[in-house]
Amino acid sequence: MFTNIPGYPRIGSNRELKKACESYWTGKISLEKLELTARLLRQQNWEHLQQAGIDLIPSNDFSFYDQMLDMCLAMGVIPARFRPLQQKLADPACLELYFAMGRGYQKNGLDITAMEMTKWFDTNYHYLVPEFDTQQQFTLLSKKCVLEFEEAKRLGIHTKPVLIGPLSFLILGKIKDPALNNGILLQQLLPVYIQLLAELQRAGATWVQIDEPCLVTDLVAADKELYADAYTKINAAVPDLKILLTTYFGGLQDNTGLALQLPVQALHIDLVRAPEQLDSILPQLPSHMQLSLGVVDGRNIWKNNYDDSLSLIQKAVQALGAARIMLSTSCSLLHTPYDLDLETDEQVLSPAIKQWMAFAKQKVAEVIALKNILAGDNSLLDANRQAMQNRKTSPLIHKQAIKERVKNITAADAQRLHPFPIRQQIQEAVLQLPLFPTTTIGSFPQTAEIRKLRADLKKGSITPADYDAQIKAAIREAVQWQEDIRLDVLVHGEFERNDMVEYFGEQLDGFVFTQNGWVQSYGSRCVKPPIIFGDIQRPAPMTVQWSSYAQSLTNKPMKGMLTGPVTILQWSFVRNDQPRATTTLQIALAIRDEVVDLEKAGIQIIQVDEPAIREGLPLRKADWEQYLQWAVQAFKVAVAGVQDATQIHTHMCYAEFNDIITSIAAMDADVITIETSRSQMELLEAFAKFSYPNEIGPGVYDIHSPRVPTAAEMEALLEKAVQLLPARNIWVNPDCGLKTRKWEETALALRNMVTAARNSREIL
Ligand code: GLN
Ligand code: ZN
Repeated sequence: MFTNIPGYPRIGSNRELKKACESYWTGKISLEKLELTARLLRQQNWEHLQQAGIDLIPSNDFSFYDQMLDMCLAMGVIPARFRPLQQKLADPACLELYFAMGRGYQKNGLDITAMEMTKWFDTNYHYLVPEFDTQQQFTLLSKKCVLEFEEAKRLGIHTKPVLIGPLSFLILGKIKDPALNNGILLQQLLPVYIQLLAELQRAGATWVQIDEPCLVTDLVAADKELYADAYTKINAAVPDLKILLTTYFGGLQDNTGLALQLPVQALHIDLVRAPEQLDSILPQLPSHMQLSLGVVDGRNIWKNNYDDSLSLIQKAVQALGAARIMLSTSCSLLHTPYDLDLETDEQVLSPAIKQWMAFAKQKVAEVIALKNILAGDNSLLDANRQAMQNRKTSPLIHKQAIKERVKNITAADAQRLHPFPIRQQIQEAVLQLPLFPTTTIGSFPQTAEIRKLRADLKKGSITPADYDAQIKAAIREAVQWQEDIRLDVLVHGEFERNDMVEYFGEQLDGFVFTQNGWVQSYGSRCVKPPIIFGDIQRPAPMTVQWSSYAQSLTNKPMKGMLTGPVTILQWSFVRNDQPRATTTLQIALAIRDEVVDLEKAGIQIIQVDEPAIREGLPLRKADWEQYLQWAVQAFKVAVAGVQDATQIHTHMCYAEFNDIITSIAAMDADVITIETSRSQMELLEAFAKFSYPNEIGPGVYDIHSPRVPTAAEMEALLEKAVQLLPARNIWVNPDCGLKTRKWEETALALRNMVTAARNSREIL
């Protein structure tokens, strides 16, 4: 029985790669130094996996920025706008071009925008989207995967190169020319792809892992047909290479027959997300195929339940015999932090909770342990059973009162007192806002001083009282400034928040944090998600003191600012011992308590941000409705505890709203603010088509860039908005929070925005 790891984290156990890349970009270290760091990291990973006893050790899972970007470079998929840069470079496949594609390039008289980035399936990892344009010519430009295979070989380690599959590469890309389609592109791509495989074969590779995660999604018929063609040609061209076709993040479902027909030597399936697929696959698996069982969760930080895994494995062994089975993690371990052993501070992560957890390194050990248990070594099984049992019953996790409260949620708890038209009248009477009211999304620039304040508090170099006083000073200044420029609805600025999820997680029961639990989000950006381990409740108010202080400084309405339940869930590691919906409702009740307390403290407008609602959509359309149902319910439970006069806002960042507009309307927020400026209000069309009934603030300026928009530009956007939706319902605000901006540009842009709103009022 083989053991197989589909991929390992690459940022380094102390984020060495992040630090090296960033130092290289700012010119602090040389290219040689960067490459040396990368080589050492690869070596560490390989040696670790070899010593652990893994048979199929991945290579080419390393990346300086992103594995899809690597593939673009390998296949010569360079967007046309980068050609002027490429022509200047001695090596057309060098890192300078690579980083330029990932990050954009503004140097030497060139100004080239980066490639688009988007979420990798339903993870919080982002990949760079391949762009296929008219003159798309595929060429074998980078042999990174061959070089890395050889690099490992020189260390005496025989690896399994990992490549994104030709179809997933195309399907996940963006076609810029309507005359092209995946079929046409595939015919051009395949010869180059095969050339790369042939080089791997020549270099001595035996197994190659080809990832086709798109096989767990709803494929269009035209794409389905391409799979057989592609893999038949691959098999014919490199018959001696063993292909391990790898799927993850879901079940094959209607694509099962398709996958099993392909001439490959092994298939990897995700049995964490879709354990039920084992039963349908086992009887159909062709006799030449091995099966890699992804039983250890690559998307989470919990210990594996060995008994559950063993029952799946044993079933497979009975059907196929041990020789045809590989044991594996569900997907690449890229999505988990490196090493639980680095969590040494018991104040941060208590041993009582840590005992239930496993990071990448521990998950590798679990794969090996499962193999050993199957071989008769039961010593590890008892300890695992104990941890599982202990987690099932631990009073740290299970709080009866919270479970009861969730069970007792009624339909009325998720319903405002009266429908929107009535609320709107009441709110208009109370708030007395002008037409086109102006506001911002919540955060103001997080200056170096503000960051230092939080760091100092953490270190203990300032007292909590000092900290409070200084945050209050920042709020005071922000409020005064907003009054000066005559914004209508003010915010306190979120200066006390490190991050919109972490801030709440730190104050809620049921969350823990790590010292070093970093995972890659994109490029050199890493995040340290909070961990939801237990039943969630709010022991004390979380934001009331700041919001009421801010309100005390002004007669204008001060907007309270909270993060919504779905977003808190989406951006955390979640428990796997209860449905996500239940966890979300627990968070919703905690937020509800805060919303009610804000109202009691005299806050008349409360915003509950839900930027992650859209990204939480399941991969398969058939699962959407159920998800949207509980996601919307959770939002409504969070906000519906208030009187009609209290105005509830929500905010969502850039997203494809067409698919989910019914659910957004069902959330019934009095006001929604959305990101629209970069698309020139196009996104608003989904709302217009639907005759969206509630109030809406389509962002009138892009906050991702330091550029200051003119009042005229914003007036033009408002004019468009008025053509699409009733003027009475329209708010004026930027696209998103301003925390990443500087005060200089923010001040100018917001002044122009207020001018735009005032001018538009006069015209109407
Ligand atoms: N209120 C948050 C802010 O202004 C919203 C951020 C977001 O949408 N991601 O920063
Ligand atoms: Zn946003």
